[in-house]
Amino acid sequence: MRVIVVGAGIIGSAIALALRQRGAEVTLVEGYAEGGHTSVASAGMVNPFSLTPHETPAIPFYLSSLQMYPEWTTQLRLLTHIDGEWRQGGCLRVALTPTDATRLLENLEWIRRYEPSATWLDAPTALEHEPALSNEIHGAIHLPSEGWVNTERLMRSLHRAVQLVGVNLFIGTPVLGIVCHQHRVRGVRTAHGDLEGDVVVLAAGAWTSALLQPLGISIPIEPLRGVILKLGDLPVPITSILSSSMGYLVPCADGTALLGATREQAGFDLRAPAESYAYLLQSLARIAPALLKATIQRAMVGLRPDTPDHNPYIGAIDGYEGLYIAAGHAYHGILMAPATARAVAELVLDGKTTLPIEPFAPNRFTR
Ligand SMILES: Cc1cc2nc3c(=O)[nH]c(=O)nc-3n(C[C@H](O)[C@H](O)[C@H](O)COP(=O)(O)OP(=O)(O)OC[C@H]3O[C@@H](n4cnc5c(N)ncnc54)[C@H](O)[C@@H]3O)c2cc1C
Repeated sequence: MRVIVVGAGIIGSAIALALRQRGAEVTLVEGYAEGGHTSVASAGMVNPFSLTPHETPAIPFYLSSLQMYPEWTTQLRLLTHIDGEWRQGGCLRVALTPTDATRLLENLEWIRRYEPSATWLDAPTALEHEPALSNEIHGAIHLPSEGWVNTERLMRSLHRAVQLVGVNLFIGTPVLGIVCHQHRVRGVRTAHGDLEGDVVVLAAGAWTSALLQPLGISIPIEPLRGVILKLGDLPVPITSILSSSMGYLVPCADGTALLGATREQAGFDLRAPAESYAYLLQSLARIAPALLKATIQRAMVGLRPDTPDHNPYIGAIDGYEGLYIAAGHAYHGILMAPATARAVAELVLDGKTTLPIEPFAPNRFTR
């Protein structure tokens, strides 16, 4: 079977790899010079709980993907010799106010149904874990299973991996449209000519809806800008994710940390205003004021592919044989990448998947 995957972010690259490893003939088409527009700009958290404000039907899928992370990243490292720096260092979901503490304790009830090892730490115990934390916090949930990757390295590893296993990778090749005949997919039209395929998987992140519009298909995905700062020369190291209602810090293997993230509706504009950076520094002052002495090494800006319920679309698109979508992963594309890849490979090659993708039906807003 000849499969064309559109978009070489973490989702499209992981899908291309999974399909090729199961024997499909795969072409991965990326519009820009390098793929992974949003994926490389992300904080890399593999975090089913720390940014999830309430219990959602997506949790079983999040957990399946988290479980795949150790083996998935090990296989990528062995294949490519590029280490994506997967670390399962856990997370402290910190209460900045008494109201936060009440809300987090309510959350702990449902979180413990999925992760029994999650516990409540009072403020002194949380500070013992992470001395960089503000001494004005009101306790924290400890989530030992959460982890993170270095997305820049992971993306390099994925792009190397797809080439090593024999995926045809076209970069700098924007897809202009989907070629169909009598509601059956025939391939894609690119700036450099047509590519033929039996199946097309759309994984173009925030840009995916535009590819469907000419077919009269409306699947809502909106860009949601996010800004992150990379902090160096930390006066106090951090060893786990520190997440809060205002923002988060993620440790990196080289001793730096990422401070994120804003949520801004600004269309496809990647130029973040000064107030985005001001917000991040205000949140740093509340979470870990000692780190205001760190240096700012650089800023990253990305466009999350957001959907009305912040869940992705994963599956076949009604009315067009051979057309699939895997896009709209919003805040959790890094977390969900390995499970999305396996689910799509199973759907395309076996016609079904055992992974719990029911919440992600592509037609859930139009049926
Ligand atoms: C600041 C920030 C922090 C984040 N932190 C986390 C986190 O800690 N954990 C987490 O799980 N998620 C996080 N996310 C979300 C995560 O980054 C995204 O969900 C994920 O990167 C989406 O991946 P993707 O492959 O769908 O999209 P992208 O990475 O955007 O890739 C889509 C690709 O498609 C290409 N493309 C678009 N149109 C075309 C076309 N017509 N033809 C060919 N190619 C095309 C683009 O060039 C791009 O390379 C964060 C996001 C941001 C912005």
